[in-house]
Amino acid sequence: MAYKALYRKYRPGTFDEVVGQKSVVTTLLNAVENNKLAHAYLFCGPRGTGKTTVAKLLAKTINCTSDGKRPCGECANCREIQESTYPDVIELDAATNNGVDEVREIIEKVKYAPLNGKYKVYIIDEVHMMTSSAFNALLKTLEEPPEYCIFILATTEPHKVLPTIISRCQRFDFKKIDHAVIEGRLREIRDREKINCDEEAIRLIAELADGGMRDALSILDQCIAYARDDITAAKVGEVYGVASLSEKLEMFDLIGKQDARSLVDKVNEISGRGLDIQRLTMDLLNIAKDALIYSYCRDSGALSTLNEEQAKTMTVRFTSARLLSFIDCLVDAQSRYRDASNSLNYFEVALLRMMDGEENKSVPEPVSTATVQTAPAEKETPVSVPEEPVRDPQYVEYSDERLYDILKAANKAIKEEDRAAIAAVMFADLPFEESRLAELIKGADIMASSPQNVILVVDDRLKANTVNEKNNKKKAEELFAGCFGSPKDFYAITRDQQAYMINYFKAHKNQPEKPAEAAPAETEPEPVSSDEKLVSLFGKDGFDIVEE
Ligand SMILES: [Zn+2]
Repeated sequence: MAYKALYRKYRPGTFDEVVGQKSVVTTLLNAVENNKLAHAYLFCGPRGTGKTTVAKLLAKTINCTSDGKRPCGECANCREIQESTYPDVIELDAATNNGVDEVREIIEKVKYAPLNGKYKVYIIDEVHMMTSSAFNALLKTLEEPPEYCIFILATTEPHKVLPTIISRCQRFDFKKIDHAVIEGRLREIRDREKINCDEEAIRLIAELADGGMRDALSILDQCIAYARDDITAAKVGEVYGVASLSEKLEMFDLIGKQDARSLVDKVNEISGRGLDIQRLTMDLLNIAKDALIYSYCRDSGALSTLNEEQAKTMTVRFTSARLLSFIDCLVDAQSRYRDASNSLNYFEVALLRMMDGEENKSVPEPVSTATVQTAPAEKETPVSVPEEPVRDPQYVEYSDERLYDILKAANKAIKEEDRAAIAAVMFADLPFEESRLAELIKGADIMASSPQNVILVVDDRLKANTVNEKNNKKKAEELFAGCFGSPKDFYAITRDQQAYMINYFKAHKNQPEKPAEAAPAETEPEPVSSDEKLVSLFGKDGFDIVEE
């Protein structure tokens, strides 16, 4: 028998087997049970979290001919849907077929009743990739679909789907699946497949999969292909160019022993495997953080990366002050990566500074890009730091107070308007740089909109700097001026900054207003409670308002 990929072999055949999406599954099953199916669903969520799997399960359930539990997985309809040969379940991947012709073709066929079952189900994956004319063609059908038609649109990027489409769909948000849940599933499969895969490897695979079950199983598959029957974290690391936990702990060990030579060798060895330095920095940071937390609370439940034994070893070896200085060094390195062409050098400097910690109790002053270049030489360390030109920062930086003021003037209605307006702008024939900027802004999330400002949220510092670069800011204002009533100022922050600002906002919201000379708030419509304001700005799930 041909080898079947694990994620196919272990794809859930019933709703019971779907893991990590309880609320979605419950709501859908209730709808089926009570005959309250919608005509259009929008499944949003990160890749590999089960959107198309659940779409197919729903298609099976409503077309299954069994009298017992549905989907039965055995009747002709169930089997054909599983094999994608069922004529009334039409799957379309908008990432590859995003043209108006394909959508037209689909729409042509909507008028024909289903051949075999009760329902015709259209599953359109990556729906945000459709061209706008294809979107418009789809929109017409969504307005008045025939009784027997159900559309399931799936997307990893809901903010790129036209609001007019979204408003016609019942929306479900698929969440990233917990590491623990993925680990559990991996163990189950390991046992059923009778393969050797140690616990550390399982943890590493779950970590790499980052909330996607499909990715987790694909990674396991690749590791089996590479390491056959003996999967260890080191081998997973070899396949994926990441360091295993024991390798990372070894680095701390070498730091403790002040063995610079071996440490640099180790870094070179793992970076030779194509390892991602930024990721490794983050991993070391998490280890130091875990150890620090453990040193304060001695509670293994608070650990996210280490087990209790490992945390204990770390705290025996390093004082909490030392762990804190590790965190400082690593955070400092992270902040330098954004402008560095070669992060490896900064990473090595950070490790050497960590090694230096014992004698050098005082935490060094934050250093500028210019001074860090001289730091390694003073300590006669074996690395050289690249000659980065000292750049005059050309990007605008807003203070916390400034962002706070914008948040105060913002509200949800403006945000929705802005989001729709930005999504609707089409650009043709822009020069490369400008079209890149426009795409970046269109692809960003909006944290908040006020009458004059839009705060965007982007994935990384580099993107934020691109938007906040002085000339780009001006350009962006011009590019999008036409879509707003009056030009608006764009300012981008990273997700970390967003989390920080939400806390900042929460912390300051209850403080009394500055009296007298402070500019009067512009037409505050009605006094709203701070919590209402927070919800309207960030959404209920944006953060935890209810403390209980
Ligand atoms: Zn069936």
